[in-house]
Amino acid sequence: MGAQKSKPGRAAKAAGATVANSYSRYKIATLGSHSALQILHGAKQEGFSTIAICERGRERPYQSYKVADEIILVDKFRDTVKLQQRLLKENAVLIPHGTFFEAFDLEEFEKLKVPYFGNKGILKWEADRMLQREWLKRAGLILPKIYEKPEAIDGQVIVKFYGARGGKGFFLARSAGEFYRKIKDRRTKEDVRAYIIQEYIIGAPIYIHYFYSPLTNELEVMSFDKRYESNVDSIGRIAAKDQLDLGLETSYNITGNVPLVVRESLLPEIFRMGEAVVKASKTLDGDGKGIHGPFSLETVITPDLKFFVFEISARIVAGTNLYVEGSPYTELRYGEPMSTGRRIAREIKDAIRQNKLSKILD
Ligand code: AMP
Repeated sequence: MGAQKSKPGRAAKAAGATVANSYSRYKIATLGSHSALQILHGAKQEGFSTIAICERGRERPYQSYKVADEIILVDKFRDTVKLQQRLLKENAVLIPHGTFFEAFDLEEFEKLKVPYFGNKGILKWEADRMLQREWLKRAGLILPKIYEKPEAIDGQVIVKFYGARGGKGFFLARSAGEFYRKIKDRRTKEDVRAYIIQEYIIGAPIYIHYFYSPLTNELEVMSFDKRYESNVDSIGRIAAKDQLDLGLETSYNITGNVPLVVRESLLPEIFRMGEAVVKASKTLDGDGKGIHGPFSLETVITPDLKFFVFEISARIVAGTNLYVEGSPYTELRYGEPMSTGRRIAREIKDAIRQNKLSKILD
């Protein structure tokens, strides 16, 4: 079945009708970057065949770690568009991660015909920082203040650019003057146009990794991480005087992730926030499907233990790469190694078995 699929969702429906238990006919495919090792490894643990689509010259990890049954080489990830017929023939299900949204325009991505794990209707709510904010507000979460214009800056702010890769180029300012001085150095005119000025929250950053299943209607807290960012995480290694002498600017370019468990008494609030986000997501687009699968809230906890949420990632985040063998939390729930990548594959498997693929693929 499925070799000639031509519309999003059709594979799902056909599968639901005819292939009750045969998940092995499906292949799990993703772009070779970001969290692909974990996703493909998890898919293999669940018995799927796997495809890594790699940029030529960047395929080495996917060969070495033996996570891909098939490696398809492309010049640019964007060329995946040209692979659609092949992927459809192979019954591939695409698992999205951050690199997809760097490689494709949103519109281009929405048009991809290969079955996709997730709800495409949610993508625009994540892509636009103001729509994100609306979503998080509807969930009743505490958000850092946004300054409408530089002249309104009355405290420490962080200036963020749209589409910035992993915090690259963000800067801090305390006044309109400082803002204008620093923004002059931005790379392109486009960068200068698309920024937000956000209140900087002093506290402990915690990234929460959730998974919501529409099959069980249950929200799971999978794990946590904090980021290892350059140079903000290394600036403390030199004396304040040297920092000043060097004229250093704080920068948030992500280089890796560090594992974390949270104070246990914070967990009820963490579950509550995740459930509120899922509930609010059902009010965002017309069909009421909302978000499902993995997502992450990026938070800073203040000394009075309030969670400020500064961003949502509506998909798997790279911080989950820490837990290929599962996290302390997934160990409690599953008693077997359950990465977020494996949890995605488990969801697809369960949906196939229950004839409910159309609930989770778009
Ligand atoms: P983002 O790209 O939004 O994940 O932000 C990159 C990094 O900037 C985060 O990992 C935090 O370290 C820091 N950050 C972002 N927003 C805030 C904020 N409002 N207050 C404090 N730190 C922040």
